[in-house]
This record gives sequence, structure tokens and C-alpha cells, in this order.
Amino acid sequence: MVVPSAIPVLLPALPSADQLLPYLRRIDANRTYTNYGPLTREFTDRLAARFSPRSGQPGVTLTSSGTTAIELALRIRARPGLRHCVMPSYTFIASAHAVANAGLVPFLVDVDEHSLALTPAIVIEAMRHMPAPPAAVLVISPFGAPPDLAIWEAFERQTGVPVVFDAAAAAASISEVGHQPQCVSLHATKVLGIGEGGAILCSDPDLVGRATAMTGFGFMGTERVSVVRGGNYRISEYAAAIGLAVLADLDRTIERLERLTSFYADRLQNLDLRLQEGVGTEWVTMTLNVVLPSRHSADAVKAKLDANRIGWRHWWGLGCHTHPAFADLPAGDLSITNELAPRVIGLPFHERVTADDVGRVCECLR
Ligand SMILES: *Cc1c(COP(=O)(O)O)cnc(C)c1O
Repeated sequence: MVVPSAIPVLLPALPSADQLLPYLRRIDANRTYTNYGPLTREFTDRLAARFSPRSGQPGVTLTSSGTTAIELALRIRARPGLRHCVMPSYTFIASAHAVANAGLVPFLVDVDEHSLALTPAIVIEAMRHMPAPPAAVLVISPFGAPPDLAIWEAFERQTGVPVVFDAAAAAASISEVGHQPQCVSLHATKVLGIGEGGAILCSDPDLVGRATAMTGFGFMGTERVSVVRGGNYRISEYAAAIGLAVLADLDRTIERLERLTSFYADRLQNLDLRLQEGVGTEWVTMTLNVVLPSRHSADAVKAKLDANRIGWRHWWGLGCHTHPAFADLPAGDLSITNELAPRVIGLPFHERVTADDVGRVCECLR
């Protein structure tokens, strides 16, 4: 009997050594290895040029990771003297670390069952039960779906609570940049992956200038004088080299991910489950998920995938409140998260997944 080979759930693919070589030679010639060197500045400008303005000019602050991008944006935007940052429990655990590292206490709330995202109504309801108004809200983009900027601008106007977006997986999905910072990750497992890195996208030049200064010990201008408190959150010229090589190929990468998503979408059409709205047509992801109709059907699917040696993952686990490091956080009602998280299942999704593989995966989803 021929045993079918195991199918991994994710297989990141960064530029090859050959693709990187021309950029590395530029670093050899420049003898600048970090501190906002020429490759870092070019990567910043090319990244900014991908976005259209919602208000003002889209600006970019590169950071050492998506997590530190969120931390810096919150340090700038959170209202002083207030403790809590409202955020959904249903997210990658990095979001909670970033909030805590910004000196705030995450106040965990539920998500919308359909979009898997926070809504202004959920935050407003939670605020009625909080001891004091929140310092900020962290809105998570589920698995790379671009955030709805209009509803969160309206929320901030109405409540005065500053909004920061953890759009970590959405770097290649975002089209518009406004004054509310969108924090993205450039981790190897994201569409615009360079290994480690992140960015704050924002059309407020003061915020971008301040955030950029914070990535380099708070130096502003040319003097080595610390104007704001920050740290070392920079990327090196080698990371920027990878970034330039990734951007040169990004449109092809996106097309590949769109094709693979439509492959799955066609075969999943008549099954009792759903994909996230717009995935593969309006935006792309590296972590394709199906939402099963019940806990029971999800358990059956997971058992079938395991038996067939097909990789799957609860990319976001079962909510931040289930992690020991964050089990003591204040929280609102989390009934949707508890019911939803076990039935969101990440499927094998990378360029080595063949038509045959998709067939094998979909057999397990019936
Ligand atoms: C990937 C991710 C992060 C963390 O990004 P890093 O670059 O790994 O620090 C944060 N939040 C969400 C939702 C993510 O998916």
C-alpha cells in the first residue's frame, strides 16, 4: 500500500540567495549596515508608495517586528492616566504582549461571529461595564482582512477613544492609510514576509516622525539628542535588502495566493462551512481558514485531517484568555470567542499544495 505523504500546513518562501545578491552587493559598496541606511530608506518609500491616501500622505515607520509596531503605536496614541486597552481575546497572542509592553492592561472582549473581528458596538457595550474609560482600543484584522477604516474613524470621533489597528497579517491587503495607525508584521509567515520586521502605516506625519524617532533611541533631527523615550526597534540594511527583493516580486506572490484560494473556494462550494468574506478576491492571506458550523463537526474534521497526515492549525489558539500568562486579565463577555475559536481551522496553504492535495483536504471536510 502506498502511504500518501504528509501535507504541511504552511511552508514560508522568502527570496532566494540569487534574488538577494544584487541588494547585498549594494550593502558591500555602501558600508552602511543599519541606522536608516539607503536600502532601509528605499524600502520605506517603496512600501509607502503601495498605499493610497485616505487623508494626508501615507507614511511608514519600519520596526523590528509587528509586535513592536503595535507597542510603539500604543505608546504614542494611548490616553495618559488611563489603564486599559480594549482588545478582542480572539487574536494571535502577540497582540496581548504588545499591549502589556506598552504599559497597558488588555481588557478582553468578544468578536463578531461572522467577520471574526471586533465591532464598535462590542467596544461600546464593554465600556459600560468598565471601571474607567479605556486608554485605547486595539482592533485586530482577522488573518489579513483589511480593517474597516470608516467605522473606526466614526467610533473615535464619537467616543474620543484612540484606535490602533493590529493589521499584522494585512500588509499586502491594505489599500488605504488614514490617521489611525495600521501596524503590520513582516514576519516570514506573512504575505509580505522578510524574516522579522514590522511597520506602522499612518498618514499623520507627526506620529510617523515620533514613531521613527522611538525606533532609534528617540533621536530627532541630526543631533544625538534623545527627544522622546524609545529604544532600539530598527531593522538592519540586510533586512531592508530582503524587503526590496520581496516587493519586487509581491504582485506575483499575491496572484499565486489568489489562485490557490480560488482552487479551494471552488471545491468547498457545496460543503457546510465557510471561508472569510472576500478572501482570495479582495485580499489575500498566508493562513487560509475554514469556519465549521459546529464544534462537533470541527472535531470530526480535525480527526480526519490527523488520520490522513494533513497539517492544520488553530492559528490563533482558543483566545488570549486561555493562555496562562494572560489568564488573570479583566474581560467582558467572551461567549462567542469560546464557541467560535475551536471551529476555525487553518488548512494547508502554500505553493507546494497540489490539486491532488486540495482534493485530499476537501475529502476530510465533508
Ligand atoms: C503575526 C501577528 C502579530 C505579530 O507579528 P510579529 O511580526 O511576529 O511580531 C501580531 N498580531 C497578529 C494578529 C499577527 O497575526
